[in-house]
Amino acid sequence: MDDCIFCKIAKHEEPKEFTYEDEDVMVFPDIHPQKPTHLLIIPKKHYKDFLALDDEMLWAKLKDVAQNMIREFNLVETGFRLSNNGGGGQLINHLHLHLMGPTGKAI
Ligand code: AMP
Ligand code: ZN
Repeated sequence: MDDCIFCKIAKHEEPKEFTYEDEDVMVFPDIHPQKPTHLLIIPKKHYKDFLALDDEMLWAKLKDVAQNMIREFNLVETGFRLSNNGGGGQLINHLHLHLMGPTGKAI
């Protein structure tokens, strides 16, 4: 998608410091963090939202990356939120998961 900011970032056409990157998935911090850790976990291929995702292998990979980020950012026992906006409720029409934390009551 030519006018998609996340596609441009995936193709390294926009500068972005990645928290994690492989050939299929990229992770970077949300520019407007809602928690001390707020990461976006994003397939490099353009899917307009969760309902458009038809690739089981990619879904499994997103799951693995999300689990690894939860561990790496020490959110295992502090509370975390993994969420997705879709169906027109999203600002960016390129599938992404939000990982936020800590979300525990003490925070
Ligand atoms: P939503 O599509 O509603 O899930 O929200 C999109 C999220 O992407 C928002 O939380 C924005 O702050 C974030 N965002 C938008 N553009 C960028 C960017 N260039 N780098 C990092 N985060 C972004
Ligand atoms: Zn895109």
